[in-house]
Amino acid sequence: TESAVPSPIRVLPPHVARLIAAGEVVSRSLDVVRELVENALDAGATRIEIDVEGGGLRLVQVRDNGRGIAAESVALAPQRHATSKLEPDARSMDRVRTLGFRGEALWAAAQAGELRLVTRPATQVGACEVRAHGDDVQVARVSAPAGTTVRVQNLFAALPARLRTQAAPAAEVREITALVGRYVLHWPQLFWKLSVDGEARLSHAPADHRGAVASVYGPLSANRVLTVQAGGVRGVVSRPELTRARRDRMHFSVNGRPVQAPPELEKAVIEGFAELLPAGAAPLCVLDLTLNPEDQNPNVHPAKQVVALADLSGVAARVREAVAQALAAHPLARAAPALV
Ligand code: ADP
Ligand code: MG
Repeated sequence: TESAVPSPIRVLPPHVARLIAAGEVVSRSLDVVRELVENALDAGATRIEIDVEGGGLRLVQVRDNGRGIAAESVALAPQRHATSKLEPDARSMDRVRTLGFRGEALWAAAQAGELRLVTRPATQVGACEVRAHGDDVQVARVSAPAGTTVRVQNLFAALPARLRTQAAPAAEVREITALVGRYVLHWPQLFWKLSVDGEARLSHAPADHRGAVASVYGPLSANRVLTVQAGGVRGVVSRPELTRARRDRMHFSVNGRPVQAPPELEKAVIEGFAELLPAGAAPLCVLDLTLNPEDQNPNVHPAKQVVALADLSGVAARVREAVAQALAAHPLARAAPALV
């Protein structure tokens, strides 16, 4: 404003502060998919089914067969900073073994849309239903199979500016499909199913990393990968004849969490190929890194897709070595460029 008089500082009213904070956790439907899938993984599910309608704005639903939430805890689940994953001391944040720990996802989803959660531990007779929207939380007894189904509907319906700036449904669905694909690649031992507007988009039955590559990128790619397993690095890397101009199929997880790879790790994989890879070419890889919880920190951003590593160059060296070993063990891989 033009006035020379400074505006007074005021503390925002709680409902505005809440919406701002919730928007950092859930700013698009992709965020809801990621948070609900990570909750299912943390619950030890072996089967995860995801339904998306209207680009995820009308509906995101994730059904799992995990351990569920006990009746006495269920009303707390959509409360902010309520979690079963951290001990109540700050130090326990330094040794997180779960994907979640901030206790904000269900809360944020209930601020941004209408949350409905139905859950039953296998050891409990009846199921509980929780409906939450804004500050309103209602619990009811229902019957349901063991496990948890969480549904978020009408995302951002009460936030017109946020709604208007969402990506087109088709574009969001593409990114959601890629996101679920990354979970399939890093958690290939589970059943996965993604449906979009009622049609199956991606299905996967338990397999190894190669099988996951088949589910996500097709059997031709799956037939051209080598197993990597050394020094806390597990997964697959493509043979040199299967290369790409972009690094868009290089996937990394740290302790089960798919993460945006630091460029140093992508470079380490490429260096592991030495002269086998044409200049500028990138391989396909799916690599799961196992680190001490103390040596990695996912608490960089609410989405937790960036992970800070205590010893990036040491981890890069392990990756380079593991990839080099995988290639050395397969003489076919070395002969391959001559066949192309
Ligand atoms: P966080 O995952 O960080 O703990 P959330 O808001 O995502 O926070 O979930 C709150 C709590 O609700 C979790 O700590 C967990 O106890 C419970 N919960 C959420 N989703 C599930 C699920 N699919 N299965 C079992 N428990 C769940
Ligand atoms: Mg969570």
